[in-house]
Amino acid sequence: MDAVMKVAPGVGNVELREIAEPTPPPGHVLLEVKAAGVCGTDLHIYYDEFPTRPPVVMGHEIAGQVAELGAGVSRVRVGERVTTETFFATCGSCRFCRAGRPNLCPGRKSIGSAVDGGFARYVVVPEQNIHQLPANIDYIAGALTEPLACVVHGALELARPLPEDVVVVAGPGTIGLLTLQVVRAAGARAIVLGTGQDEQRLALALALGAEHIVNVEHEDAGRLVSDLTDGDGADVVYECSGAAPAAQQLLGLVRRGGRYAQIGLFGKPVTWDLNQVCYKELSVTGSNASVPSAWPRALALLAEGKVQTRPLASDIFPLSAWRQAFDTFEQRRGVKMVLRPEE
Ligand SMILES: [Zn+2]
Ligand SMILES: [Zn+2]
Repeated sequence: MDAVMKVAPGVGNVELREIAEPTPPPGHVLLEVKAAGVCGTDLHIYYDEFPTRPPVVMGHEIAGQVAELGAGVSRVRVGERVTTETFFATCGSCRFCRAGRPNLCPGRKSIGSAVDGGFARYVVVPEQNIHQLPANIDYIAGALTEPLACVVHGALELARPLPEDVVVVAGPGTIGLLTLQVVRAAGARAIVLGTGQDEQRLALALALGAEHIVNVEHEDAGRLVSDLTDGDGADVVYECSGAAPAAQQLLGLVRRGGRYAQIGLFGKPVTWDLNQVCYKELSVTGSNASVPSAWPRALALLAEGKVQTRPLASDIFPLSAWRQAFDTFEQRRGVKMVLRPEE
């Protein structure tokens, strides 16, 4: 089968290669990949800014059909439409694993970076990672369950927006547009910030439930937030852009005693005024991937139609056009690029 692989350490070194189809060992399941999302992490892997164990098949945002069962698998049936969590192996015994936080396990190995992932026709995953897709969710929408689970963890479980909270989301990419939708589902009011490059994405934010959208290059977000909150500032702010100026701006928009959630990754150290964390007595949270508890919540939000992922899948490419998909993503055209292995 064809597979998009990181073939060696260093910048680039990503190729489409022909490799043998895998077979599932005991306790594991072979999935036929129907759709796989391209993520910021994949670009970081391309540029060697994220640890990998090459040669390895990339891709961790997967939806597919169960094709074959390893020995002893009982929870899953051949033919089911499913998605999968991304941790292939964790130690199971450290304090984080025991507390339901395997994302923090020092020994974790994830598909798409340490173990072969889903930019191929087939992928092998552990049985316990599999979740059935709701009937109303197609494979393309289902491939975005993974980023949604990350957002459920970072934006809901950790930052805990309340009904009627005024929240600000900076960065209307996939993560920002999912954050917008989960805070709306929690009953909060949302303002989404973007730049001139984000015109289409901001329009999508409006369609997906933003109360206001702001192009920060031309409009005064501070004035708007102040008007909406009797001068207090936003209850919760979410940095989803991974851009340092947005992180700094959000410190000015959040109210005293409010919450600041860092969801985006900068890829480098940034300047951020920690004095404001003291002056305003802010609670600051950061999140790293997802935890198992976030997956059923993510799938319930999809099943109930409270979060829509299909409108975010702006561009769909065959696997062989992976480079074009990466380029489109890097040039910040569209929202989410999805790869489909050829039949
Ligand atoms: Zn991802
Ligand atoms: Zn562990």
